[in-house]
Amino acid sequence: MTLIDTHCHLDAAEFDEDRTRAIQRAQQNGVAMIVVPAVQCAAFAAVLALHEQHAACAPALGLHPMYIHAHLPEHLILLRAAIERQRPVAIGEIGLDFFVPNLDVATQEYYFTEQLKIARDFGLPVLLHSRRANDQVLKQLRRFDIQRGIAHAFSGSRQQADAFIQQGFKLGFGGAMTYTRASNLRRLAAELPLEAIVLETDAPDMAPAWIQHQRNSPQQLPAIAAVLAELRGVGFDKIAQATTVNARVAIPALAALDAPPAIST
Ligand code: ZN
Repeated sequence: MTLIDTHCHLDAAEFDEDRTRAIQRAQQNGVAMIVVPAVQCAAFAAVLALHEQHAACAPALGLHPMYIHAHLPEHLILLRAAIERQRPVAIGEIGLDFFVPNLDVATQEYYFTEQLKIARDFGLPVLLHSRRANDQVLKQLRRFDIQRGIAHAFSGSRQQADAFIQQGFKLGFGGAMTYTRASNLRRLAAELPLEAIVLETDAPDMAPAWIQHQRNSPQQLPAIAAVLAELRGVGFDKIAQATTVNARVAIPALAALDAPPAIST
């Protein structure tokens, strides 16, 4: 039984001390593939190099809305060049964040829509960051006819979840659904169609309840999957199998990557 972590920032400085061990521990726990989205141009090389060193790490390239102060218009040109040179599995992490103050809305929308054009031009799925911005994000996905990707760390209404699914997207909840107080999120995780859900850790962030305030890591994915199984009242194997299929539908290039042998559970 294998699992896919569809969102993990393994290039982050928090993993500088033990990156290879973190990947090995995840693999020993049955995590066969880890999607690593870049958040800024300066991270592209590291994310691509990680894939060269570890076949299990699938690179995604993008300019994250929380890092708009680091972005320059020429980074969009460098993004196109990097895609042509070494094709990533997705464009991400991109999106809109209307929760964090002092992130200029027009600048966010500029980088988001320019990257949606790039995704459309290259036929790549997008990995979305959307905070207090689901309706605006959906509007742009429709405008640029983007029909594949993942709404990462989804938080929103059932109607918004349905709209993302209607648009062809999968939803990730990560460690947020492991907190009993997250009742709306847990209801969505329990009730949405299983074919709409993917697993993710968002490590080093979004630590699950049992390691709250500690560094999150991809080895937590099986325990997060177990919470999803419990919420839905189904077996772990069913969750593992379905979410792996879903991840490959959302990010078709994952199926082609050379995955290490599975650990049976
Ligand atoms: Zn992220």
